[in-house]
Amino acid sequence: IDYAKASFRDFENIPGIDVMERAGEFQLFLDYLSVNGHLNYRIESLSGCAPEMDLLLPGKSIAQKCACFVSNDYLGFTQHPAIKVALQDAIEKFGSGAGASPAIGGHFVYHQQLEDRIAKFFKKKSAILYTTGYTANSATLQCLLQKEDIAIIDMAVHASVYEGCQLTNVKTFLHNNMEALELALKHAQHTFRTKMVIIDGVYSQDGDLATMDRIAELTHHYGAYLVVDDAHGTGVVGKTGRGAIEEYDLFDKVDIVTGTFSKAFAHIGGYVVADTKLINFLKYQSKQHLFSTTATPTTLGILKAMDLLDEEPFWKDRLWENVNYLKDGLLGMGLDIGTTASAIIPVKIGDIGKTLEAGKQLLNAGVYANPIMYPAVSKKNARVRLNIMATHTKEHLDKLLNAFEDVNKKLSISKT
Ligand code: PMP
Repeated sequence: IDYAKASFRDFENIPGIDVMERAGEFQLFLDYLSVNGHLNYRIESLSGCAPEMDLLLPGKSIAQKCACFVSNDYLGFTQHPAIKVALQDAIEKFGSGAGASPAIGGHFVYHQQLEDRIAKFFKKKSAILYTTGYTANSATLQCLLQKEDIAIIDMAVHASVYEGCQLTNVKTFLHNNMEALELALKHAQHTFRTKMVIIDGVYSQDGDLATMDRIAELTHHYGAYLVVDDAHGTGVVGKTGRGAIEEYDLFDKVDIVTGTFSKAFAHIGGYVVADTKLINFLKYQSKQHLFSTTATPTTLGILKAMDLLDEEPFWKDRLWENVNYLKDGLLGMGLDIGTTASAIIPVKIGDIGKTLEAGKQLLNAGVYANPIMYPAVSKKNARVRLNIMATHTKEHLDKLLNAFEDVNKKLSISKT
């Protein structure tokens, strides 16, 4: 394996060698990345999730203060005093853990309140909780789709969707490409029993929105169901932060909404929102829900975050001011930021080596942003991804822009 061109995926399975040997091969690759200063995953933070963090950078013994553009805590709510108080009260009242799975003693009043609240948030009747957004997708799809069915999925959806579709037939279509979607639906129409079109509301690597109005039209025309994972749109997009579905006003056209409490709602946990009979089916058939302990009492913090989204809309306004300020600055340098319409801004570079080097130089300048490459995006589409927060200050944003200016001078990453 040529390490300079390799990706993690090359080590998933190597024919003819045992798992320990495979792990050994992978370790050599990790060592190669590390020696070149390109192993910038799992960087240890000595402070919380914030626009500025104390990071223990690889090979260093003292922490460095960095401006951070890696957090999905878009509204900055992980540090909101009212949410912290709600969490403390919840622990005081209910203790530290739920103690059982939902069917046999672990379904508390706050779980029910949260299910009711998130269902209402998306103008639907019922909801079910999972312990992560990842499981909400993977478990639900695994439970609903069998070998007689088909999942028609935008190729840019999250890994959890792919995992959920392992027991069913899968047809991927080119990202946001309506001709490709229609072709897939036509082929599937009379061949498969249940047909499900699965998309994100906001895509995690490009920050762009699904062409949801046309997708909904096509999906229903061909007798399929529409599933939308709006992990990154919720709290960020739409007039009142109900996400891409609100932006398009398609609440009654989406059959199943999935999402996470780990991003704008500043906690952890996943949910699925749909018709009551479908949710009841999941409550008693979805193994990851049925046989896994429910979320901790700190879940009550999510209800507070949902209150604050409506009561303090200025956080969302600040987020968008920051997004627009950064977009203007990056575009002013001639950088390619694609078609983002959310709080995720990709700075598209293309070449993997240059992207890794850009990540390293940004870190050296005290700016933490993630280089993203294959298999998260296609091989020629590497980029540095920026996640913007309402609580970034102008100083943080300017630090990032200055650092990109230097990176651009050294690596020539602009389009023009
Ligand atoms: N869906 C999308 C689009 C995501 O980006 C992610 C995680 N980043 C998830 C689902 C999984 O959510 P969680 O982190 O809560 O497991």
